[in-house]
Amino acid sequence: MKLPPEFISLSQEIGARPLLVQGPGGNTSVKIDGQLWIKASGTELAEALDKNIFVAVDPAKAMQELHGAGDGSCRSALIDSDCGLRPSIETTFHAMFDHKFVFHFHSVAAICHAIAEEGRNALAEKLSGLQWVAAPYRKPGIPLTKAIREAVGTRDIQVVVLNNHGIIIVGNTIDEVRDQIYDIEERLDLPVHESKTVNSPADYPGWMCVPDVAALATDPNLFQRATSGTYYPDHVVFLGPAMPALSRSELAELDPAEFPVPTVLVEGEGVYIKTDAKPAQRAMLDCIYNVLTRIPADWALLPIGEDAEAELLNWDAEKYRQALAKRNG
Ligand SMILES: [Zn+2]
Repeated sequence: MKLPPEFISLSQEIGARPLLVQGPGGNTSVKIDGQLWIKASGTELAEALDKNIFVAVDPAKAMQELHGAGDGSCRSALIDSDCGLRPSIETTFHAMFDHKFVFHFHSVAAICHAIAEEGRNALAEKLSGLQWVAAPYRKPGIPLTKAIREAVGTRDIQVVVLNNHGIIIVGNTIDEVRDQIYDIEERLDLPVHESKTVNSPADYPGWMCVPDVAALATDPNLFQRATSGTYYPDHVVFLGPAMPALSRSELAELDPAEFPVPTVLVEGEGVYIKTDAKPAQRAMLDCIYNVLTRIPADWALLPIGEDAEAELLNWDAEKYRQALAKRNG
């Protein structure tokens, strides 16, 4: 099956923009001759021109998973179960829309609005004239798809803002989807604010200082926000809950191999990432920086909370709270 080149190139285009897609996040799909071609789990949209990242599923079978016929992984809906790729965990909502193209991604501008009360309230005016709706936060997979289905109802919707997550844009032509993506980016654009502070990072074995995002540790407001909660799922999945803060001496004594998450803040000093961190983890570190430096200082942030963190990490909620308490000393 030859997928439309303009679909592949728009997928790659958004995948190459860190303000739209970070690492393997986001997914796009096209429906052709009754088959749904969706980005495979673990692949990156940025690689769309270089290799095959799309896998075909039967959208009717994917919808049956939504109604209890599977675990939501949509493996049962694969057209070729030996293709070696797994469909995205977000496949069910791609199947749910009748539109030919579904683009879902973790736009920093959309996230900024979707994680703050004031941002959510501002959407009505900023998106006025568009066919849009907001859906509440749910774990990606069947719970999220059901929440989207409920929010959309019977309306003809082009845009869904996913609270504490990202955005979905649907359309029947690629031009329409592309125009919508960039129009919304412009409407939701927020200026970057970062207080320039001098930092003097130190060397810690196994850790690497990331000067580009130092403000997360040196700007008191950003530090407080970065360390006090998690705001969207991929942060938890790639960096763990919130961002841990350690003192110089704690970090100096820490064996990175023993530490459960790849990034650490030292207040007033700098941001550190394990020297063997994966590119996706680095991309998620840039993402939290890009989000927090764009949120106006007077917006009240709405973290997803410990129960949602535990759910994303497949932890029992009570055991998770105990582990967190231990980590936080
Ligand atoms: Zn997503």
